[in-house]
Amino acid sequence: MSTVGTPGADTTVPKHSLDRYAAKRSFSRTPEPPAKDAAERQGPLLFVVQKHAARRLHYDFRLELDGVLKSWAVPKGPSLMLTDKRMAVEVEDHPFDYGSFEGVIPSKQYGAGNVIVWDCGVYSPDEDQQYVFNDRVDAQNRVREGLAQGKLSFFLRGEKLKGSFALVRTRADKQWLLIKHKDRFADSNALLARNQSVLSGATLDDISPAQQAERLD
Ligand code: MN
Repeated sequence: MSTVGTPGADTTVPKHSLDRYAAKRSFSRTPEPPAKDAAERQGPLLFVVQKHAARRLHYDFRLELDGVLKSWAVPKGPSLMLTDKRMAVEVEDHPFDYGSFEGVIPSKQYGAGNVIVWDCGVYSPDEDQQYVFNDRVDAQNRVREGLAQGKLSFFLRGEKLKGSFALVRTRADKQWLLIKHKDRFADSNALLARNQSVLSGATLDDISPAQQAERLD
């Protein structure tokens, strides 16, 4: 049974900070978006998965919450297979605008390497199959509570990632597991072979600073 919305439940919006995001980056050198909170938004919450050829290739899994993107680095990438438990390391909150960022983080900058938007879409918490795609306040209360408790079940409607997943915090500091729940979207297909951006069709190798400059014009 969910305790969300019960009297006494703490539904205060915690103050998020993009200070850690900003402190790691020099915005005169990187094309990444500046640290600012999103304007008031409506409609379902966004999720995005970026594929990032940093020193080690990884995928960045991000969930919109309270004007920022809660973020985890997933070294092996997400999976639709029930048997996979993918390690997801909690990293700093990213600005909402980061969700559409593709480009080249220049060498010597934090996270230097190419980035594409590997998947994006909308999500809802889905504990007990109670979906709230159309109620941001309720959705965010439940996401906040789930993350605070270290266990969040949610439903993704992306191009590649679909269905119910869980993020479960482990005993290790900042380490979570990303797990697919059993549903009709679970399968054993080679998901990560679909290596193109859902925004531009580019693969990581297609991205270049020149192309990025064109897009920004
Ligand atoms: Mn990354």
